[in-house]
Order: sequence, then C-alpha cells, then structure tokens
Amino acid sequence: MLSKQLLDVIACTKCKGDLDYDKKRNILVCSKCRLKYKVLKDIPDMMLEDAEKF
Ligand SMILES: [Zn+2]
Repeated sequence: MLSKQLLDVIACTKCKGDLDYDKKRNILVCSKCRLKYKVLKDIPDMMLEDAEKF
C-alpha cells in the first residue's frame, strides 16, 4: 500500500504526468502512455524498462 504523500509526488517516468494507483492490482497506471508500473514492497518500480504496456 502506497502512502498518499508518495502518490502525490510520483509521476510517470515517460511523460512526467500523474499516475493512477490501482490498489487491487498494486500497480501504478499512466493512462496517457498506457504503461503499468509495478510496486514491489511498497516501492514503485519507475524504470521505463520494467513498465508494461497495455
Ligand atoms: Zn506517462
């Protein structure tokens, strides 16, 4: 579970835009780039290489 503070400052690596947090799947989603960022042990993996397209 990510903290609100973290969610407020975190941005998409690619477009620097806001991310949506999917609590159920525990991923961060950029709807603009259509990328999914994984969250491992409450630490988002913001590496573009690790992000998945959808
Ligand atoms: Zn983006």
